[in-house]
Parts: sequence; structure tokens; C-alpha cells
Amino acid sequence: KKRVFSGIQPTNNIHLGNYLGAIRNWVETQDQYDNIFCIVDLHAITLPIEPKELHSNIRKLAALYLACGLDLSKCSLFVQSHVHQHAELSWILNCYTPMGWLNRMTQFKTKAGEDMESVGTGLYCYPVLMAGDILLYQTDMVPVGDDQRQHVELTRDLAQRFNGLYNKPVFTIPKADIRTAGARIMSLADPTKKMSKSDPNPNAYITLLDDPKTIKKKIGRATTDSERLVTFDPARPGITNLLTIYQALTGQSQQHIEAEFAGKGYGDFKAALTDCLVETLAPIQQRYHELISDMPALEGVLKQGADEVRPLAEKTMIKVKKAIGLG
Ligand code: ATP
Ligand code: MG
Repeated sequence: KKRVFSGIQPTNNIHLGNYLGAIRNWVETQDQYDNIFCIVDLHAITLPIEPKELHSNIRKLAALYLACGLDLSKCSLFVQSHVHQHAELSWILNCYTPMGWLNRMTQFKTKAGEDMESVGTGLYCYPVLMAGDILLYQTDMVPVGDDQRQHVELTRDLAQRFNGLYNKPVFTIPKADIRTAGARIMSLADPTKKMSKSDPNPNAYITLLDDPKTIKKKIGRATTDSERLVTFDPARPGITNLLTIYQALTGQSQQHIEAEFAGKGYGDFKAALTDCLVETLAPIQQRYHELISDMPALEGVLKQGADEVRPLAEKTMIKVKKAIGLG
């Protein structure tokens, strides 16, 4: 079976973009692959975060992974910092990564903003840590949202460079697996930006734990335009984003959806979208509340996951060190 690896940062409540761009796809194909899913907490400290919040986010994310349908008989689920080889490989790979490659990474520029002097160097090296996460498990496929395309490309380049340098197939060359529907969900407040957990405006995203009232409010306030037609139209990114969400949730074609709302206005469409979201999230939320109320069981799951993947990580580290002349 092919190996799948992917992860999410425990930076905040996960949102619809994380669900449609990542988790839902992991769940859909978990039977076909040998799956490793990670809570990438070392990535979450690349920007300031409260210790209590980080600790609690890690548990919440674990519960949400399971609530969304990840099945522990088909995948390993663990916390990145519980397997120290991630940090170790990341350091080694840093030494093989040209600065020029990292200078081209767009996420760093977006996240660092104007703050170039004081932002931590960890944010700059983030793609190398991510490369290490993927390469540590000899991963074939990385199911992610469209925003991570560039980082997976860098991972491939790095693996090829390393293998080439030592003339040995130390790392499997991974491929990004980016589906079309839901790969890039946009912010509800500013549809030219992607929906992000770290957005300071909570109205910009719908979290998987939002209650029906909040969902209704956020969809109601979502930025659209002064037109009336409920149609997919790149010139009207607000309504198109909402339609894209509806399409990803219902699995219907664009034509079908446009026909459904022909002669109707934005209000009717927003009401239908709200219902659809509430319906999709209700079972996930119910399951989440059950899981999060049994903390010892959840901790046990995470410990077991780390125990499962650690030998795989160590096997790669031995190959890496041997190639370099370390150890
Ligand atoms: P942050 O703002 O903290 O970076 P994020 O929302 O970008 O949060 P990540 O933890 O960085 O979330 O990414 C987790 C996964 O979700 C990745 O596979 C990423 O590609 C995917 N993803 C993130 N945002 C979106 C989005 N708006 N649409 C589709 N997929 C997304
Ligand atoms: Mg992100």
C-alpha cells in the first residue's frame, strides 16, 4: 500500500477549509492507503501561542480528527513533538536547503507581514520542518489544500537533491494530492484571501465547532456584492466562494446548483447553505463532545500513535545519518 502523510497545526479551531481541503479527503481514501496523520505542534510554535491554549488545542484537534471519521484501525494518529526525529531531521535538512529556495516561499511572506526583523527564524524554516515530516515516513502522497502545493514541491526538490548528492535513494519522492473541490476555500470576510485559522477576524471562517446560530450569523454576514444572480463567476469571488462551499458539501455539479437557485436571490441561497453546513457539522460535533470528555482515552490514542510511527522515523534517520557520515 502507498503511504499517506498529512497534518494540521493546532493553532486554533479548525475550519471548513481544513475540513474540505484536507481531513475529508483523508477520511475518504483511508481504506486504500497506509495512513499517518499528525498534529504538527512544532509548526504551531512558529508564531507566538499561549502554552495553555496550545496544550488544549492539541487535544481538541485529536478529537476532531476522530470525530471527522479517521479510523484508528486504518491510520496512525500522533503528535509531532512526541517523535523527536522530526526536529532532528529538520535540522539536518536545513543544512541542505539553499536560502534562495526558502526566499521564494509565499506563505512566509504572508505570515511574517511587515515584521521581518523580529519574526522568529522558525517561521522561515517552516517548509523544511514540513519536508522532514513528510520524508521521515517515506511518504508517497501528501493530501493537502492548494496553499501547501509550494511546500510539497520544495519537499520533492529537497529529497531529490539529497538523494542525488549521496547517490542513494535515502528518501521516497512524495507527490502532493490536491483535489479540485474544496482545495482552496476563501475567507468569508475577504474572498481574495484564503480562509485561515490564524485570521484575527472570527467572522472570516466557520469552525467545525460553530453552533447553528453562529453559522447562520457568519454566512449572513459573508461578503458578497450588489448583484443578484446565484452563479459561479470569478468576477464575483464572494458568492463564488459560498457556492464552492455548497458544491463541496453537496457534491453536485455547478450547473445543477445554478439551476437550483435560478430566479432566487442571495438570501435564499445563504439559507440553504446554512442548513447544509449545520447538517454536515452536527454529527461531527456530537462525536467530538463524546471524545473530548474522555481525556485519558484520547491521551492513550496519541501515545499509541507515536509508538507506532517512531520505529519508522528511526529507520529513516539511520539511513540519513549513514549517508552523511554521522552516527
Ligand atoms: P494557519 O492560519 O494557522 O496556517 P490554516 O488554516 O492555514 O491555519 P494549516 O494547519 O496551516 O491551517 O493547514 C492544515 C491543512 O488545511 C493543510 O492541508 C492546508 O492546505 C489545508 N487548508 C488550510 N486552509 C485551507 C483553505 N482555506 N482551503 C482548503 N484547504 C485549506
Ligand atoms: Mg496554514
